[in-house]
Amino acid sequence: MSTTAATSAEISHPSQLPAVDKVLLVAEMQPLREAYGLDACTTATRTVLTQLRQQLLGSADQPGQPVQANLTSIVQSTHRQLQARFAPRLQPVLNLTGTVLHTNLGRALLPQAAIDAVVQAMSSPANLEYDLQDGSRGDRDDLVESLICELTGAEAATVVNNNAAAVLLVLSTMALGKEVIVSRGELVEIGGAFRIPDVMTRAGAKLIEVGTTNRTHEKDYTGAIGEHTGALMKVHCSNYAITGFTKAVSDADVARIAHDHQLPMIVDLGSGTLIDMRDWGLPYEVTVRETVESGADIVTFSGDKLLGGPQAGIIVGKKELIAQIKKNPLKRALRVGKITLAALEPTLRLYLHPEKLAEELTTLRLFTRKADDMQAQAEYLLPLLQQALGQGFVVETAAMNSQIGSGALPVENLPSFGLKMYPASGKQAGRQLTQLEARFRALPRPVIGRLHDDAFWLDLRCLESAAQALFVDQLAQLAGNSSGPAPTENFI
Ligand SMILES: *Cc1c(COP(=O)(O)O)cnc(C)c1O
Repeated sequence: MSTTAATSAEISHPSQLPAVDKVLLVAEMQPLREAYGLDACTTATRTVLTQLRQQLLGSADQPGQPVQANLTSIVQSTHRQLQARFAPRLQPVLNLTGTVLHTNLGRALLPQAAIDAVVQAMSSPANLEYDLQDGSRGDRDDLVESLICELTGAEAATVVNNNAAAVLLVLSTMALGKEVIVSRGELVEIGGAFRIPDVMTRAGAKLIEVGTTNRTHEKDYTGAIGEHTGALMKVHCSNYAITGFTKAVSDADVARIAHDHQLPMIVDLGSGTLIDMRDWGLPYEVTVRETVESGADIVTFSGDKLLGGPQAGIIVGKKELIAQIKKNPLKRALRVGKITLAALEPTLRLYLHPEKLAEELTTLRLFTRKADDMQAQAEYLLPLLQQALGQGFVVETAAMNSQIGSGALPVENLPSFGLKMYPASGKQAGRQLTQLEARFRALPRPVIGRLHDDAFWLDLRCLESAAQALFVDQLAQLAGNSSGPAPTENFI
């Protein structure tokens, strides 16, 4: 290819393609070399040239074809390669699924106080394990332990990577080589392969199942206690409910049975809330404090579910047991970093001021948004969305139900409002809907809704005003993108 960068040429044989080195020296390449570095530019150029070569040579089932290319177009393709390679994989999205604590979308959004503290902790040394009073080595748990104890009524506390880690660490400390008695109605699997029986095995404990799926009695627990028993355990039925002819033994009764036999009682609370949610007009969920007061010796719960903080597993309970747990070598492997602690501390502190909690704690603010609010929002957005989608789709405002999510109150719904869309013509309606969903996902700030009942639903509960501005700003691109997401880039 003896062309200048500007003139285009038809290339019919790989030998006419320029060498990688030649492309790298083209003037238009220089800003890319500055931005991405020589190595990445070389790799990307090589990829582009290889694809052109393959196009020219063809394959077993596709004959080779000439291509239109010149140095400029090759640099442009290289640029697109580089942009794709350097684009962040973790992207912000708009969660309009109606599930506030959506595990796949990262669960709790942090309160501003936590965000500020995280930025600080990331950019400055901090007294993570350093006692500023006497200049000696400190313990990272000290940063939050007294706050957690104040908010839960527990004697002591420690923090690990997540609640799964908390359960693992607790069992491995308290029941290594021993038996742990759990009701068959509570052998929960949380999405993503957290299953109580499997965690139990990995922790080195032996699961003893008692009762039946729907009914477990006191005598089931007492009958299973023997010389190898290490603990009695209760697990919160986070993502399911057993209804109908049921019987479960209360936390207090299991604790009493355990203590009568000089055994500890463990509760995996899952979500774990620090407040009586009824005070905020929400459905009731047992609190960590109530669970501690019921006599549980150890309680574990998540930091990023109802608590509304960073991913973490919080372990609270009796002082001697927490001390043992902290001595377990696994604690070091499961401990949290400074960024987590930086986020957790101010999140917990918000709970000291309940009057402001629904304003400051992002998750609670979202849970407590009124359906009227979302309805007004839906009415405002309806004409804008209808205009963006054109005649092909019917857009309606609709009452819907949000969910708390992440294994909290699986059967309770929060009355909400939003928009629902369906194809104006029934022809290939299913395909039209999945394409519509894909168009929303392909936006610069991907919009995640849900397909349900032959329509695409956007629940507006998590669309607060800043997010709504983003949503509106990109509607024009939804209109421009009527054929679905851009097909994967085809070179030149
Ligand atoms: C969510 C949950 C877990 C896992 O907690 P992570 O913080 O996601 O690790 C464990 N047990 C129960 C009962 C849960 O609800």
